[in-house]
Amino acid sequence: MMRLATLGEGQPAIFETVQGEGPAIGRPSTFVRLSGCNLHCVWCDTPHTWNFEGTSFAHRGGQKFDRKREVVSLSAQDVASKVRALHPKHVVFTGGEPMNQQRGLVDVAEALGPEFGVDLETNGTVAPRDALVARTHLFVVAPKLANSGMAESLRIKPEVLQAFAALEQSWFKWVVADLTDVAEVEHWVSALGLPADRQMLMPEGTDSRSLRELGEQVAHWAVARGWRMTDRLHVHLFGARRGV
Ligand code: SF4
Repeated sequence: MMRLATLGEGQPAIFETVQGEGPAIGRPSTFVRLSGCNLHCVWCDTPHTWNFEGTSFAHRGGQKFDRKREVVSLSAQDVASKVRALHPKHVVFTGGEPMNQQRGLVDVAEALGPEFGVDLETNGTVAPRDALVARTHLFVVAPKLANSGMAESLRIKPEVLQAFAALEQSWFKWVVADLTDVAEVEHWVSALGLPADRQMLMPEGTDSRSLRELGEQVAHWAVARGWRMTDRLHVHLFGARRGV
């Protein structure tokens, strides 16, 4: 069984929308949001996937969530059925950290069949197995910086990031708020030999106004380094609601 996040009312977080971030921005996609994460970033915009009551994790929002209300178990076949019932022919596995449930992801992809494209969003701390690599069109790898509040030893796994870098379908997406963050990105890109032509900077922010204020600077920082910049389209369109 797979552990999925919910839309807040016990309904599994399987929903159609446009991809709002990264290389596939604007693509109609069905999102499958997995529950659970091996990191606990202070600015995480999906704390309902991991910041449960009874845990001691710190988060800027300060809110703890009821695990019974926020986690639902579904078989891979049931996940695939719900994806099939929606319009897009492209599915995005996200979280939380979907790589913690790799076997289920492969089972869903197999159940969907080759007519469905598969993207996966990950924090880049768990390496993908061959079966998942073979079925995934795009890995969006978002390693966490010091601004996440996570210890470096937990958030940066050099061998895993280099394994992703060796896959042509991997892009790297970094959440930045200032030049200290950008310098840290430069350090990791250089130190780990990550591909310069597959790096993206994304402004930190969960509301349209803060994204616009920071976005202009992020665009300049990206251009000066030959990297891409990505906005957060879904936040501008829909705000920080779930299931959009
Ligand atoms: Fe949230 Fe992603 Fe950090 Fe996990 S890795 S806590 S899902 S931002």
